[in-house]
Amino acid sequence: VTTLGIIGGGQLGRMLALAAAPLGIECVAVEPAEKAPAAIAADVIRATYGDRGALEHLARRCDVVTVELEHVPVDALGWLAERVPVRPSPNVVAIAQDRLLEKQALRAAGIPTAAWAEALEAFPEGTVVKRRFGGYDGRGQVMVPPGGTVAAVLDGDCISEAVVPFERELSIVAARDLDGAVVTYPVVENRHADGILRATRAPAPRLDSRTQAQADGFARRLMSAWDYVGVIAVELFQLVDGSLLANEVAPRVHNSGHWTIEGTDTSQFEQHVRAVCSLPLGSAEPWGVAAMVNLIGAIPDAAAVLAVPGAHLHLYGKEPWPGRKVGHVTVVAAEETELDERLQCLKLC
Ligand code: AMP
Repeated sequence: VTTLGIIGGGQLGRMLALAAAPLGIECVAVEPAEKAPAAIAADVIRATYGDRGALEHLARRCDVVTVELEHVPVDALGWLAERVPVRPSPNVVAIAQDRLLEKQALRAAGIPTAAWAEALEAFPEGTVVKRRFGGYDGRGQVMVPPGGTVAAVLDGDCISEAVVPFERELSIVAARDLDGAVVTYPVVENRHADGILRATRAPAPRLDSRTQAQADGFARRLMSAWDYVGVIAVELFQLVDGSLLANEVAPRVHNSGHWTIEGTDTSQFEQHVRAVCSLPLGSAEPWGVAAMVNLIGAIPDAAAVLAVPGAHLHLYGKEPWPGRKVGHVTVVAAEETELDERLQCLKLC
């Protein structure tokens, strides 16, 4: 039996463990929170992510270890990697948790981004000041209008970035195995509010082959430069002329890939498990079209959701509080018009 260790026991760990079970792969998650969403499908070691005792236990029990979040102490991951394969590698996690290293890596791979500066610099089009470490879901960043003061809007180490007048936000999820084989999912469109992902449309409406090819190229170049193993997500801005800029990279399964559970042949979760456990990758072809709506702060009536044709409910077993992701709904359909009708019935977005 293969045993997969997962640093983090949240909803991503839960969906990874649910995908691993039918493959005969057992999961063990490390999670400090009392009620770990992953506990329904994984053994949970209740400890902080850097707890050496817990990691030693994990190394002894597991054949391979992965992460479901990037905000993990890198020294602990490095220590673990001396005892058991860690995929993706701790180096990559270190890059993805630091916005400065991430921007430098994107530049080194020839992937365009918004103009940015390591120092606190004001850009004429407006500036986004972002904390180097720890920011997510819109936390740890402040938007400063043109002419505003960028100094001291946030504490800690920050970078500054030009505000991008994007047409829309897109992302691509891709996977790479140990032999370097790559599969990429269709580019999706993401709608955010208050820095939190609200909804994803897959494939992105009006997606053309040029956009798919450009996003595909970004993911492939990064994964090849990093000798990456597992699923990766690249968040993108699309400009009015159709071209893409990379915004952020997640070295893990991603919220904008949840639709792949019902929308494709091989979900991002199964794909990640296959990649890190040295199994062949599966097809990432979509069945039709899909939309994913996050459930934030409140749990809807299950019967009302499930009465909508093509709707699939995923609850994470989390107590709802304002701003907290407690689940998602994916709606699948044969084509866009049918999807729109179904989303209207759903009344969630
Ligand atoms: P991030 O944490 O970098 O993913 O940013 C969260 C959200 O803030 C993004 O999804 C965008 O909606 C917005 N945002 C971040 N950076 C920029 C930028 N340079 N220009 C415009 N909007 C941005």
